[in-house]
Amino acid sequence: MQVKQRIGMLDLVGQYRRLQSEIDAAMDSVLERGDFIQGSSVTLFEQELADYLSVPHVISCGNGTDALQLAFMALDLPAGSEVILPSFAYAALAEVILLLGLSPVFVEVNPSTYLIQESAIEAAITNKTRVIAPVHLFGCMANMDAILDIAHRHNLYVVEDAAQAIGSYYSGVSVRGFAGTLGTVGTTSFFPSKNLGCFGDGGAVFCSNLELATRIRQLANHGQSTKYIHDIVGINSRLDTLQAAVLRVKLAHLEDFHAKRLTIAQRYVDGLQPLQDQGLLQLPCFSGINSQHSELKSTHVFHQFTLRIIAHEKRDTFRQFMSDRGIATMVYYPLPLHRQNAYFQEVALPVTEELCSQVVSLPICPELRLEAQQEIILNVEEFFQKP
Ligand SMILES: *Cc1c(COP(=O)(O)O)cnc(C)c1O
Repeated sequence: MQVKQRIGMLDLVGQYRRLQSEIDAAMDSVLERGDFIQGSSVTLFEQELADYLSVPHVISCGNGTDALQLAFMALDLPAGSEVILPSFAYAALAEVILLLGLSPVFVEVNPSTYLIQESAIEAAITNKTRVIAPVHLFGCMANMDAILDIAHRHNLYVVEDAAQAIGSYYSGVSVRGFAGTLGTVGTTSFFPSKNLGCFGDGGAVFCSNLELATRIRQLANHGQSTKYIHDIVGINSRLDTLQAAVLRVKLAHLEDFHAKRLTIAQRYVDGLQPLQDQGLLQLPCFSGINSQHSELKSTHVFHQFTLRIIAHEKRDTFRQFMSDRGIATMVYYPLPLHRQNAYFQEVALPVTEELCSQVVSLPICPELRLEAQQEIILNVEEFFQKP
């Protein structure tokens, strides 16, 4: 158990306080109506999110992991089908793939974007490959031009895990659009700490194809076509009406949340640039509020501000140093998926291994005060200036 820090990774109560009157009113109206399951706020939220993302279909569900499970169930793949995914990612994707009797194939990530490496995808394709599953980690998007091109040439599905990148916008050579809307199916999570978070669990699936959307909706509701008529084996996965009401309020503020995150990221980048120039750390792949990094074709919504400490053996002392000054830090993720007992595979992924030993994330959230940001920068500088 980590001690509560003066400056936490995020400030959920602070965000609630800021939006309290709107959120309380939205929750009260659900309590008054009593439509707790599949209520009107759920339908309205799905429609508003679909409009925001310019995607024809949004199907809300219980959480981001269920969203991934529903996406893969809907594709109805033969047992043993291979899914190519990055090993530097959150575990939910690997878990769902294995639970459904599919076979994860872990590949390498790009050392500067931390996102799935397109050349590694091509090399991992076999006659059993059916899906490429990019994870848009930390708030920016994998190279969708390349991924969609590979998928097209090899006749593969693309499932995008956009749990950390809702609202990130990709402007590529041949494709443009929001995270989760460019592949066959996209998924997201409304876990409280995500950029668009509710007050408990929540998730959603996005897709453009009506037939697929209908199937996903049916799967999420016990495989029912009409009440008590079950055509396929489904699950029970719903977004609570109360959560949808909270999310409707927060969706209207999402652009503002992202502008605030971007300002903080810019401040960190400006403040820590000298340490990068000295070769002590590597900042996120991002070159400014109005420009896009050459290796990144999407905007960055900074779900996390993650840097690499080049001398990885200093990471623990760095975290202790910050903690002693009341500043939280986190490691996303300390152990790659291919090295976890649950998903173990004998593959050599040196970039992924190195990232897991070096990465550390600093606090970032719309409520982080300017003085806290400055204090964080000063303390990082102080740590690296120690002899
Ligand atoms: C949070 C997260 C999930 C899972 O979402 P839950 O709502 O917690 O089930 C999946 N993938 C990624 C990349 C995530 O960050």
